[in-house]
Amino acid sequence: MASDDKTRVYQELSELTIAGLKKIAEDGRKLTSENLAVYLKNAPKVRAMMEKGGEAGAEKKSQPGELERVRAQKEKLVRQMGELEDRLNESEKVYKRAVLFLSDWVRTESGGALDEQIAHVKEVLKFRSSPDVIQDAFQKLKTAVFHGDVTQKVNDTRKKSLMSRLMSKEGPALPDERAVAQFRTTYQEILDELGLDLGLDFLPKLLQMGKRISSSVTYEDFTELRKDILELLHSYMATVAEDRSTAAEFIKDIGRKLVEVEIDLVKFFDFTDDVFTSNSRFGNSLIDDLNDLETSLGFSHKIDELKEVVNAKLALIKKAVQKKNETDQGFKASLDSDIGRLRAEFDQMKQEAMAATQRAERFEQEMFTDPLTGASNRRFYDKCIKEEFERFLRYRRTFSTMILDVDHFKSVNDTYGHATGDTCLKEIIKRVSPLLRGNDTLARFGGEEFVIILPETDAAGARDAGEKLRKAVEKIEFVHREDTFRITISLGVTSTLPEDKSPADLFNRMDMALYDAKKGGRNRVVIR
Ligand code: GH3
Ligand code: MG
Ligand code: MG
Repeated sequence: MASDDKTRVYQELSELTIAGLKKIAEDGRKLTSENLAVYLKNAPKVRAMMEKGGEAGAEKKSQPGELERVRAQKEKLVRQMGELEDRLNESEKVYKRAVLFLSDWVRTESGGALDEQIAHVKEVLKFRSSPDVIQDAFQKLKTAVFHGDVTQKVNDTRKKSLMSRLMSKEGPALPDERAVAQFRTTYQEILDELGLDLGLDFLPKLLQMGKRISSSVTYEDFTELRKDILELLHSYMATVAEDRSTAAEFIKDIGRKLVEVEIDLVKFFDFTDDVFTSNSRFGNSLIDDLNDLETSLGFSHKIDELKEVVNAKLALIKKAVQKKNETDQGFKASLDSDIGRLRAEFDQMKQEAMAATQRAERFEQEMFTDPLTGASNRRFYDKCIKEEFERFLRYRRTFSTMILDVDHFKSVNDTYGHATGDTCLKEIIKRVSPLLRGNDTLARFGGEEFVIILPETDAAGARDAGEKLRKAVEKIEFVHREDTFRITISLGVTSTLPEDKSPADLFNRMDMALYDAKKGGRNRVVIR
């Protein structure tokens, strides 16, 4: 078959198919491939073509490749017819909706500025327009009408959007059966769409309306239905708005609760002085707060609101934690300053204590020291002899005592003056002290008389010590102006005796020994 012949055959087939579809539509039959097949089968032209094709097939029985190609063409054609059928079905659906809308439109609007859009819709509604184009044109018109923003040439009462006009009860007495069927289908489609948009809450109402659709007959029935659908929409919008304000109220409520919690915390922080109580109470508040948050999560449905609530909560909790930290810092700072103050007070007390100790020591020293010679005084001697004697009584440790008296001291004062006498006394003690042992006690008993306690020392030892002192003193050469002079001392020595009962026993014996030394010629040591 030549190429031109093929093209002609395809063209004829296409024309026959379109003619068949038109016929089906005109007859009001359903647009199915079966109906189309019946038409094509009965069409004389198709029959002729088939016969011609049969002849061609007979001619080319020896050419199986050519047969295959023809079969493929036939299949392709059938496929194309199927697609065409689908498009037609879709067009019919769109057409039905458009017709319904337009009939409504025409009923409520006699002429106007929307003519252009209507004309456009009418144009695209022609058979050759694709469903997409029809749908698009229809949608444009619908948008224009529903927005009510197209300038209309009609009077003010008509200058309303279709939405408000849909509320009107006006309408012709009775639509024909076909129109009713179309109304029903379309309203059901609208309800189905609303079902998807409005959500489950509105489903019962939508189902109830669906039932009403099947019993609707008059224009009034459908007007009522439209009115109810619009009311449903209004109530949906109101619900959304209400929901929003409820959510806002809810958030405000949560915020208020949190502020209260915060106020409690702040109040508490201001009054407390116990950091441990603070921690436990803060912990409880935090738990309450988190419980609140959990509860609010249970009530809130919208993610954004939830986020707001959570964020608000977290911000307030964070603030409370910061406040808590600041308070803890405050506690710490005041604790630090308390510790600092205590430490300073402690240091001062320590210094005072040390000063007091020094004063006490100085006082003690003064109390037991002879100011002129620096030797111990009689009070110290009394104390020491008492202690030493107790030790003797307890442990029977022998000790000795001696009394030192300056010979003819009165004449020294008389000759050189009392001040020189003082100087001489000081000089004697200065020379004598280093000759004694560290644990010996030298004390001024009074005037020019001194007593010495020699622990762990027997009479012989004490005599030797006395002798040492005597010799040291007699070697001193005192100078007064041009004069030089010497001074001697007499010493009475004694040691503890088993029968001694008190220090007085010792004192009496050494005093007698001194007396003996004086009587014996002075500058000597006598033991008793
Ligand atoms: P004797 O050898 O008998 O002890 O003669 P004496 O003069 O030392 O004894 P007496 O008891 O008669 O005199 C003691 C003198 O010692 C009297 C007093 O003037 C003097 N004297 C006592 N205490 C001090 C003193 O603190 N300073 C001075 N400069 N003299 C004193
Ligand atoms: Mg004397
Ligand atoms: Mg004397």
